[in-house]
Amino acid sequence: MAKERQILEIPDYLTVRDLADLMDASPIEVMKELISNGIMATINQQIDYDTAAIVADGMGYEPQPVRAPEPSREEEEAARPAWRKLYSGEDPSKLQRRPPVVTVLGHVDHGKTSLLDAIREAHVTESEAGGITQHIGAYQVELNGRVITFLDTPGHEAFTAMRSRGAQGADIAVLVVAADDGVMPTTREAVAHARAARVPIVVALNKIDRPTANPERVKQQLADLDLKTDEWGGDTLVVPVSAITRQGIDDLLEAILLVADETEIFANPAQPAAGTVLEGRMASGRGPVATLLVQNGTLRTGDVVIAGLASGRVKGMFDQSGKTIKEAGPSQPVTIMGLDEPPHAGDMFSAVKSVKEARALVEEHRMEHAATKVRPPQAVTLEDIFSRFLAGEAKELLLIIKVDVFGSLEPVVNSVQDIKEGDLKVRVLHADVGDITENDVNLASASDAVIIGFNVEADSAAQRVAESVGVEIRTYNIIYKLIESVELALKGMLEPVYEDRTVGVAEVRRVIRLPRLGNIAGSYVLEGTARRNAKARVVRGGQTIHESANISSLKRFDEDVREVRTDFECGIRLSNFDAFEEGDRIEFYVRERVN
Ligand code: GDP
Repeated sequence: MAKERQILEIPDYLTVRDLADLMDASPIEVMKELISNGIMATINQQIDYDTAAIVADGMGYEPQPVRAPEPSREEEEAARPAWRKLYSGEDPSKLQRRPPVVTVLGHVDHGKTSLLDAIREAHVTESEAGGITQHIGAYQVELNGRVITFLDTPGHEAFTAMRSRGAQGADIAVLVVAADDGVMPTTREAVAHARAARVPIVVALNKIDRPTANPERVKQQLADLDLKTDEWGGDTLVVPVSAITRQGIDDLLEAILLVADETEIFANPAQPAAGTVLEGRMASGRGPVATLLVQNGTLRTGDVVIAGLASGRVKGMFDQSGKTIKEAGPSQPVTIMGLDEPPHAGDMFSAVKSVKEARALVEEHRMEHAATKVRPPQAVTLEDIFSRFLAGEAKELLLIIKVDVFGSLEPVVNSVQDIKEGDLKVRVLHADVGDITENDVNLASASDAVIIGFNVEADSAAQRVAESVGVEIRTYNIIYKLIESVELALKGMLEPVYEDRTVGVAEVRRVIRLPRLGNIAGSYVLEGTARRNAKARVVRGGQTIHESANISSLKRFDEDVREVRTDFECGIRLSNFDAFEEGDRIEFYVRERVN
């Protein structure tokens, strides 16, 4: 009788070592079994279920996948984009289609503002006809009885600022490309931003009236960006328009509505209102005024709302023509009065039950705000992508890649794009030629991406912003090092490398002996700066005699100081070392991370 085989539960991915542990076998045996199946693997290498199952089977086990627990409601909730959270948990039968919210992106001077003006002038909603147009950050137009909301601040900066605050302002992006100029760097950036937000793109091929317009060339460039026009069998709607002659404006609106029909754009108007702040300011005679985009529910005069750190009862509400209205439904932009301070663009707002609840929530937000101010936001780093993956927080490593010359763009992108480790994949959000700029950092910050530079550096503005928002920038000069880092990151085996950098050197000129406190090195800074928060090593006759000492005090005369510059004297006390001699060098160094 055949011996009953023991069931071995195997997860989707595990290392060779883990598999050996599961079977109580030695990793060498597992590696041998792998080799006999034509697979070369190292001890720490991740293998997938199928591979592990072959080994387990070969070693006499009955392999079975470990059943992953069903995601909890909370986990499903957390995985939703911000705007869907607004109506998640709603009874599906109560959800209704709402007008799409559209943002206009594209290269400077390609006609974003002109197009927004042309659309507004051609199609103001009926209620607004004859009214005075107010610029409130968004407006609605009507075509064949259907409404579209346009965000009136063109460009991806505003859009990205919203996203980095957790708000998803738009459902559809109109990418404006001038037919006489074609795809430009910002066009590519805009595409990356829209894709990062998973927002479908409609292309407005603008300035079609110009004699130098070359739509076919631009369509080819768009196809190269994976935006192949439907005329060529792709699924991107590319609409020729002119903001000046108004040609094609209706076609563009129709294209937007077509895309909207294919996209989940719902809300439950019966709920208390929630949405995003488009603008906040102090208006003379009216106090704090805010423009809100209602994204779910219905906002009514008299409602109590909180918006970021502002709160209050809606005293007055106005539509885009300045007309007083009593209520505003999903996708409608409105201006309200009654808040105690102007909120910030990009803040989320919501209607709450009472002034008391509003106060409590604002207090909570204020504390969160204070906490996030002192602690930089949790950034994604190459080192932690694997643990995030294990924790179910990440499925892919998002990268923004900048290279020095066009010739390296494709090889770099292709080689990282193919890297995969089990379920964890690489997705290149944006790749271009040139130094790493603030725009790249903003995109990375809004999308939880890591920036990789190949033979390029981050400019100083980019470095500053990256530090303050906690975006990781890594630069490489050798392509295989770059690939290796990404590979190791996906395997969870990337160790940070630190290097010590000397920031200052002091020479001991006099040893001051204090009976109880120990010896102080009366020193003279020869080069750089002696820093209180650095580490120190003591060098005597070319030999390091003590290392990694903390500086327990650094004084100029009797005063404690944080640093002392070249050519100044100071008193230095180190932790765990006081056997100074005249002529000793005290080297101050900081530990810095290198790739
Ligand atoms: P933005 O920087 O993308 O907002 O571009 P603007 O809307 O400011 O337009 C830049 C320039 O292009 C302006 O001088 C516009 O008059 C011009 N322009 C915009 N759209 C068109 C168009 O469809 N046809 C022509 N001929 N010129 C246009």
